[in-house]
Amino acid sequence: MDYYGSHISKLIEALRVLPGVGTKSAQRMAFHIVGMPEADVRRLSEAISEAKRSVRFCSECCTITDGEKCPICESPRRDHSQIMVVENPRDLAAYEKTGRFEGVYHVLHGTISPMLGIGPNDIRLKELITRLGNSKVPISEVIIATGATVEGESTAMYILKLIKTLELPIKVTRIASGVPVGGDIENIDEVTLERALRGRTELK
Ligand code: ZN
Repeated sequence: MDYYGSHISKLIEALRVLPGVGTKSAQRMAFHIVGMPEADVRRLSEAISEAKRSVRFCSECCTITDGEKCPICESPRRDHSQIMVVENPRDLAAYEKTGRFEGVYHVLHGTISPMLGIGPNDIRLKELITRLGNSKVPISEVIIATGATVEGESTAMYILKLIKTLELPIKVTRIASGVPVGGDIENIDEVTLERALRGRTELK
């Protein structure tokens, strides 16, 4: 039933695709938007289109950025021989907030999940393996910081297996538990993340 007229309904439907937005919040947002000054609405819609148009994936670590490489991969101050593998750009941001990691990252954009039909080729794993094999700076350590979920753990084991096939002198470590089981990394406080990083153990 279309109570509001098709334009408003279309806006509500469009907003409902966002994470964490149900019908009620979408309605509240839609009514707020139509009540906003026209210039503000234009600024909002332009910011959305502009972000979408300019977004790219860093050619080295696959995080979201707007240049060829992200600022972390470009930085000469970072230790390019140490790579932390994270599930998504939000996890990268969470580790950056601790200010304690001096290496660089690799962003998978997901985890392997047979339940959801997500296989190794659906995440940025090939890119990681190519990067390890072709890196100008020899990679000394890969820290696997996927979440403590079933998918996160099995993805970690899969990565370990792949790295072993490279037969390179790369140490593979896993962040310590401290990250609660089933917990999303982005929701964990900085102290816990730092502890998890410091207490990492070697995977063999
Ligand atoms: Zn990068």
